[in-house]
Amino acid sequence: MNPENKKRHALHEAGHSTIAIMLNVLFTTTDIYDREVDIHGTTKIIVREDMTIDQKRNAVYAMLAGGFATGEDASNEKGVAKDYQEARNIIANIIMKGITSDTATMLNIEDYLKECEGETKKLVVKYNKFIEAVADELLIKRELSRDQVEEFINKMPKD
Ligand SMILES: [Zn+2]
Repeated sequence: MNPENKKRHALHEAGHSTIAIMLNVLFTTTDIYDREVDIHGTTKIIVREDMTIDQKRNAVYAMLAGGFATGEDASNEKGVAKDYQEARNIIANIIMKGITSDTATMLNIEDYLKECEGETKKLVVKYNKFIEAVADELLIKRELSRDQVEEFINKMPKD
């Protein structure tokens, strides 16, 4: 498997997991595996019904961060399309809750998604150094728990 492609996958998963740590989003593990024909990576972000709207929105950012972390506009790529589907599901849930509270929103899912994309882009730029480092660590370790990613980030210099 060519190393460039592997690095791209590592960056994608590191985008999810690094932004998740920075925004206090829960996930179980982040990983990349070489397979016969391709590379497979997952970051298992946890979204629960009882989370606050802020927590859910942060989960959307972490969900979208994979695609932006590779520096490509690749929302139609297979892995990224799945992330977008997940993000839309969370947003639909946020909007439904919003309507029943005083912070009623008239935004539809695609408008909300666009806003989230803008925020995610900023976050990925802001934390790029950490994403790069987590990606390199992922290339070595193959799988990291949330605690391991958090510990790794905490050991890095903050500026
Ligand atoms: Zn992804």
